[in-house]
Amino acid sequence: MKVAVLGLGYAGMVSAACLASKGHDVWGVDVDASKSRLVNDGASPVVEPGLDVLISDAVRRGTLRATTDIDAAVDGADIVLVCVGTPATDHGRVDLRQVEAAVSDIGRAFRTTAPPPRGRRSVVIRSTVPPGTVEELVRPTLARFAPAGCSYGVAMVPEFLREGSGVSDFFAPPFTVIGTDDALVGSDVAELFSGFDARVHIVATRTAEALKYACNAFHATKVSFANEIARLFRGMGIDSRVVMELFCEDDQLNISPAYLRPGFAFGGSCLPKDLRALLYLARVNSVDLPMLSATLESNEITISDVVDRIIAHGGRNVAVLGLSFKMETDDLRESPNVILCETLLGKGYNIRIYDPIVKPARLIGTNQSYVESKLSHLQRLLTDSVGDALAGADVAVVSSRDPLVVAALVATPPPLVVDISGRLGPQVERVPGYWGIGW
Ligand code: NAD
Repeated sequence: MKVAVLGLGYAGMVSAACLASKGHDVWGVDVDASKSRLVNDGASPVVEPGLDVLISDAVRRGTLRATTDIDAAVDGADIVLVCVGTPATDHGRVDLRQVEAAVSDIGRAFRTTAPPPRGRRSVVIRSTVPPGTVEELVRPTLARFAPAGCSYGVAMVPEFLREGSGVSDFFAPPFTVIGTDDALVGSDVAELFSGFDARVHIVATRTAEALKYACNAFHATKVSFANEIARLFRGMGIDSRVVMELFCEDDQLNISPAYLRPGFAFGGSCLPKDLRALLYLARVNSVDLPMLSATLESNEITISDVVDRIIAHGGRNVAVLGLSFKMETDDLRESPNVILCETLLGKGYNIRIYDPIVKPARLIGTNQSYVESKLSHLQRLLTDSVGDALAGADVAVVSSRDPLVVAALVATPPPLVVDISGRLGPQVERVPGYWGIGW
């Protein structure tokens, strides 16, 4: 394919050199002429291990060249990759002027240049941009500058390389995620990246835009997590390098998809208790752990979000379908569902609870005392059937995936169905009044 790469910084230069090394006909474009001169001399404008060699080889073989002339690069190009900078202001607002200028240039170039032999062109955003940028900025800008009848499509394909290992990351990506609603663009971009041993996912444009932010936020969170753990334990004679090495060996709960599904708040007999114990240790040792402290606050917001949604709806009769903190257990200790019921009862809502696993008479020990302190009239709130719980309900708050619950919601959905599990399935998601807690 002929590929034009706009922006020869870290991301663009690595992409350009790596794609050229795969035999594509790559044209790098930068507004900074010194960068294109360096590339054409076989040198890299950025320092990145392995990049110089890739560039000099590709330039010698004639698969890579650089220019400031966008028309020359876009002429006959199948794919135009936009890798320009998206710096943030001090407040975090993303400055999209480089993207807007680059996309305007591409639209103008479409007026004066020829399409590739396959007839259509793909404009692919690789810069990290806030969700909605492709739809609200890129598409309208292209439409303004491209000639009428010009055949092109747009996609967002986030770049996951890290500086310092950019070349090896490019050749071994975790996956290729193509955000587009245009099947032809999807297949062209998939073809461009087909030489890599990575799964290709075609998703909505906004999903691809959001994914990159989710990834980087998680990476930042991981660093702060490890550092907060170390800051707490260093004063207790503990080497947290060992703690974290062992921590990372657990690929069932720690380095795994566990606990990474959006849904309701955490709870149960261990997580809140042990997190509070850890924060107590930090306080008595005068250690600040802002991120871990904020985890509790964030969890409370997850619950109050649901309360706010119910208040906004206006109905006073709430069916809670599923009470324990996990399905198939009757442990109610610190169940966020219990806290939700307690909050709603305190605000004067009428609550009916359906959870066949929970039998108040069988609750013992701390489980029993927790429920008595929070929901002293649990027995009166529980119903024998899901139908009884839903009778006259204005709202259902659903964590149970019990087939009886799903069937009842599909047959007689109340005006508002609050799904806090995300696992109810498409039938329930299609009922009028369905509201997913985070989707
Ligand atoms: P950078 O600032 O190093 O490079 C951007 C380049 O774009 C500059 O050389 C600039 O001169 C050029 N440019 C600006 N406007 C242009 C235009 N209209 N036409 C052609 N060239 C133009 O940025 P970077 O670090 O390479 O990052 C680029 C994007 O990729 C950012 O959105 C960044 O968040 C994302 N990203 C970066 C990395 C990384 O490791 N640096 C990794 C993944 C994603």
